[in-house]
Amino acid sequence: MHYQPKIDLLQNRIILVTGASDGIGREAALTYARYGASVILLGRNEDKLRAVAQELHHLNGDTPHWFTLDLLTATPQDCEQLAQKLAGLVPRLDGVLHNAGMLGDVVPMDQQDPQTWQNVMQVNVNATFFLTQALLPLLLRSDAGSLVFTTSSVGRQGSAGWGAYAASKFATEGMMQVLAEEYKQQNLRVNCINPGGTRTTMRANAFPTEDPQKLKTPRDLMPLYLWLMGDDSRRKTGMSFDAQPNRKPGISE
Ligand code: NDP
Repeated sequence: MHYQPKIDLLQNRIILVTGASDGIGREAALTYARYGASVILLGRNEDKLRAVAQELHHLNGDTPHWFTLDLLTATPQDCEQLAQKLAGLVPRLDGVLHNAGMLGDVVPMDQQDPQTWQNVMQVNVNATFFLTQALLPLLLRSDAGSLVFTTSSVGRQGSAGWGAYAASKFATEGMMQVLAEEYKQQNLRVNCINPGGTRTTMRANAFPTEDPQKLKTPRDLMPLYLWLMGDDSRRKTGMSFDAQPNRKPGISE
């Protein structure tokens, strides 16, 4: 995507990023801050989150709020408690990037471990829904809220071996579409981003034999992540965008 945002694109915006401790989410949090946003970091690993918070502090002098929440065990009550804490700290949320995700096992359906299946659904779908439900009141206080989910190519077209992960990303697309319809008369838009194959730990786990140098880095994807959080995309809702529109799914040769 050729997009050159103004450096103050996200000035005065408050944006929460899940899975902010690593990979695409970490890069998105740093990028949003570079473009003026106050970011709130969510993740499950305290040390990693603290390190990202420190990087943000070096970037612009602000120390961001950060919270640990393990989506594997998160209940609706945990999400509600977090939302209450946030409501005491910030007046609203202008953006939420649901980025945290779990891959599970890349094996045929007849070998999908039922517990791993449930874990993938819990992290990618159930906890993402619990968190969305809890954060909606804060998002609706924004005059231009942007709620962004993270999908995958296999969330639009199933592919052998992608089992729970593919099913969870289809559910993500569905959740996005339902919410977009429900809030289309209000100041909240809801969309998905499909990053496409990107140089991260999750990708390396999915394709251990692939040469990571052949993949785009999280930073390469940031134009779309910025565009969807800012005003330049303000009429877009209910859509699923590709950060690498010309990339064919599958291993990079
Ligand atoms: P990474 O594995 O690099 O990062 C995933 C992030 O999610 C980390 O911050 C991780 O925390 C966090 N996370 C994982 N499980 C939990 C949990 N139980 N509770 C809270 N946080 C958790 O993955 P990517 O950056 O590659 O993936 C980001 C998103 O992009 C995912 O939704 C993924 O499905 C999607 N995606 C990625 C593609 C790729 O090629 N990379 C392609 C298509 C989609 P921790 O640091 O503690 O591990």
